[in-house]
Amino acid sequence: MKRAEIPAPKEKMVIKSYDKVPDPPAGGLVVKTTFCGICHSDVHMADDELLLGGGQVLPVSSLPGFTFPAVFGHEIAGVVHSIDSSVDDDRLKVGDKVAIYPWTGCDNCEYCNKGDGAMCPMSQPMGCGRDGGFSEYVPIKRRDIVIKLPDCLRMDVACMLCCSGVTGYNAVQKVKPTIEYFLNLKGRATLLIIGAGGLGLWCLQTARATLPDGVKIIIADINDGKLRMASEHGADDTVFWDSKLSEQELIGLTKSKAVDGEINAIIDFVNSTESTGRSLQYLTKGGAMALVGLFGGAMSVPLPIFALSLQKIFGVYVGSLEQLKELIELVATKKLTPPDLNYVSLEDVPDVLAKLKKGQIKGRSLVKF
Ligand SMILES: [Zn+2]
Ligand SMILES: [Zn+2]
Repeated sequence: MKRAEIPAPKEKMVIKSYDKVPDPPAGGLVVKTTFCGICHSDVHMADDELLLGGGQVLPVSSLPGFTFPAVFGHEIAGVVHSIDSSVDDDRLKVGDKVAIYPWTGCDNCEYCNKGDGAMCPMSQPMGCGRDGGFSEYVPIKRRDIVIKLPDCLRMDVACMLCCSGVTGYNAVQKVKPTIEYFLNLKGRATLLIIGAGGLGLWCLQTARATLPDGVKIIIADINDGKLRMASEHGADDTVFWDSKLSEQELIGLTKSKAVDGEINAIIDFVNSTESTGRSLQYLTKGGAMALVGLFGGAMSVPLPIFALSLQKIFGVYVGSLEQLKELIELVATKKLTPPDLNYVSLEDVPDVLAKLKKGQIKGRSLVKF
């Protein structure tokens, strides 16, 4: 069995071979990985730093449960390889095609029992602390986080739903009540998505598939090539944030794309000082803004604004087990399409991480086993 390991914080990733495939943990199973997505958070983890803004840096290895050697990779789809037979449960069998909900915590609290491990104070996701999917075989203790895939869903598509997909879906569900409020009241509403990368494109499609008709969805980015992809994936309009434009021109341009100039909801996959600061200039009174990106940065905002503007601003981080199940059904039945995919080998992962850091990866890279 081969897997890609980081021996210690900030050390280089190495491929290690083991003679034996692991046995299933008590009550659990082993999944043979077919595809594992490479996510931008793998870059933060390999660098062992998350930039918090204002010069603050959080070493990722200091998070609870983070152990070394670390095996990253949290977007895992594969086939059930072996099951511990001591538990009487015929829901899964050897050979089933599955995706794994990686956002586990202590496995022992109210949040974990409800399938909301991201809320657990001891959040320690697979591939981000616990061993993940940059490995030919993945042992899993909890069967309930292993989701059987519909036959019609491709496994390369399914793996991405575990992180980028479910994050975008969660963000859409969080702003949906606000969008429905404006739509019912005024007969129109506009959602702005910031960032047309892999997350933004999944979000765009799940927004299109789960928001009512009549919502205008626009998407902004600093890269016009990515915006062309967004148009192909169903955006009603795009906003090119050209670096040559002044701040006031960018704000004016973005507002001009909304129906009646009103942006009622924003999902920000960048979440930088610039993008979020700009959003506060055009988010309408009573609007909702989901901050998702981990770009880093800080802001100073007069506090009475939040009371007077009635705006709702909240953070979104991944999603729940239930949401991942809903999303898998949605993508399978509505045939949502993935961003451009490129397939790499386990040995290519360090190189892909270096390119991701420089913004040189178009679409999404997946390890194909
Ligand atoms: Zn991710
Ligand atoms: Zn917990």
